[in-house]
Amino acid sequence: MPPPFLSVTALAEALESHWRQYRATGDFTLFVEFTVSLNGLIEHLTRRHMSGLARIARELENTALTLFSDAAQHPLLPDLANAIESKLLRLLDELLRHEEPPPPNRRYSDSPGDEAADPWTHGRNVLIVAAAEHPWLESLCNQLASFGFLPSVTSWSGLATGEPAPLAILCLPELPGAYPAEAVSVISELRKHCPSSHIYCLAVPAELESIVRLQRAGADTCIPAASGRADILARLLDLAREDEPEAERVLLVEDSQTATVVVRRALSQHGIDSLAVADPRRLLEVAAGYHPDAILMDMYMPFCSGVEATAALRQFTEYQALPVIYLSSETDIAQQIEALRLGGDQFLTKPVNPVVLAAVVKTKIARYREMRHSGQHDGLTRLLNHTTAKTRISQRVAEALPDGRLVVAMLDIDRFKSINDTWGHPVGDQVIRNLAWLLRGRLRSSDLIGRYGGEEFIVALPDTDLADAVAQLDRIREGFAVLPHAHGTGTIHATFSCGVAALADHSSAAELIGAADAALLQAKRSGRNRVVASVAGMQMEEAAGGEL
Ligand code: GH3
Ligand code: MG
Ligand code: MG
Ligand code: MG
Repeated sequence: MPPPFLSVTALAEALESHWRQYRATGDFTLFVEFTVSLNGLIEHLTRRHMSGLARIARELENTALTLFSDAAQHPLLPDLANAIESKLLRLLDELLRHEEPPPPNRRYSDSPGDEAADPWTHGRNVLIVAAAEHPWLESLCNQLASFGFLPSVTSWSGLATGEPAPLAILCLPELPGAYPAEAVSVISELRKHCPSSHIYCLAVPAELESIVRLQRAGADTCIPAASGRADILARLLDLAREDEPEAERVLLVEDSQTATVVVRRALSQHGIDSLAVADPRRLLEVAAGYHPDAILMDMYMPFCSGVEATAALRQFTEYQALPVIYLSSETDIAQQIEALRLGGDQFLTKPVNPVVLAAVVKTKIARYREMRHSGQHDGLTRLLNHTTAKTRISQRVAEALPDGRLVVAMLDIDRFKSINDTWGHPVGDQVIRNLAWLLRGRLRSSDLIGRYGGEEFIVALPDTDLADAVAQLDRIREGFAVLPHAHGTGTIHATFSCGVAALADHSSAAELIGAADAALLQAKRSGRNRVVASVAGMQMEEAAGGEL
């Protein structure tokens, strides 16, 4: 189950209410609650790439943390409390001004043709700050538009940011590698006006001083002059498709009920999901059902120690890299080192500070997930790899059965071998990447996209029926056919064929994928550059076709 969508407004209201409660009582534990909820808000803003807002919140957090370690300072002197309150009010103002839009609606079949309401097109504004005659401008705008972004341009001197704040702002300096003081102050202004936008500076000189200046002004990402503009598109697609991340899952192995309540409470305040097991003998069974991203392990328990339980867990391949964090009142350094040597990742001493606990858990989980991610994704396209795509589709089929709405499509680039033979492998690679980007740009974040083989892709579209899926894939087919792919001296065009099958007509993932594959073969045989629905959906067959 995906976590419920957290709104910035709800988090802002919780933060304000914690502050009011603290002001009313001056109670230190309520100040801790306030800091904890501020920390959770920063996490949320950072995850949703609202980096300007996260920055303002972090300033407030820094002030709060200086008052965090000493309970005797509370209630705070009025001057200190007022200083915090004025920062808080400024933050709340900005948060309410920039509440993010709700997540995309997951149903598709209504109101075809209504562009604004069409859930397949994302409202993705990108503001480019550049001189009108900048040599990259025209091709960059065209490229962005091809992949579903809505570019607009403003000059360095007459800034017009527009409403609502764009998803991203791309700064192109007048001369590559030149960000003069005036440009840096324009970026500071942009940061102030658009706290929720992601600011990219392109063609940044490879020198620390300039990068630090741009970061201070509010740039989120500095792309060095040497990398050109090739990967800006991939970065924007990552930004736009950033899914609401799954909540972290922590399995707590702890025999003390009190410790369990305290730790689980700290975790849940930071949006971390948890499950507790009191008897280590149940660890394997519970972990197999819960799929934790990390384990918090007590040191002293009945039956066996945390170190022994960890060593047993490490016998299984799937848990070899799982972060294990020991929780114990143990203060003996030698014992701690021994515990780490025997397979733990970190040692936290009880009673643990809730902010430290959440920070440690989140950092360990982020690393672990990154590592898992690179094992599950394809290097060229960053789409799911063959094995992972198949496994995930099987999971989705199992979730959607018996009568779920799920459609699977297989795509294969037409006459790809001749593209390689004529223009060389690097151009072939770019064609593959462009199709991957187009799919990422045109499909919803709830859709699954995998690179199935060389120039073959698989997609799974939940909550969709065959007719909608065929229509959408056909729009993508048309978009791809007109997409220019650059080679050394000009551009070429390519097409793909596609087979589509719906779960309603099949009873297993293997059958569904097989049916989509058979429909793909049919599309190839009947002339290529077309979308064909599986024979089980006869009425849709050859719903859409183009000339070869
Ligand atoms: P059809 O229209 O029937 O699909 O013809 P095709 O030429 O696309 O099909 P075929 O399967 O014969 O050729 C696929 C080619 O894709 C063969 C292989 O060398 C090439 N290929 C596979 N992976 C990659 C890759 O990662 N990069 C590049 N450039 N080429 C690849
Ligand atoms: Mg214990
Ligand atoms: Mg092929
Ligand atoms: Mg092919």
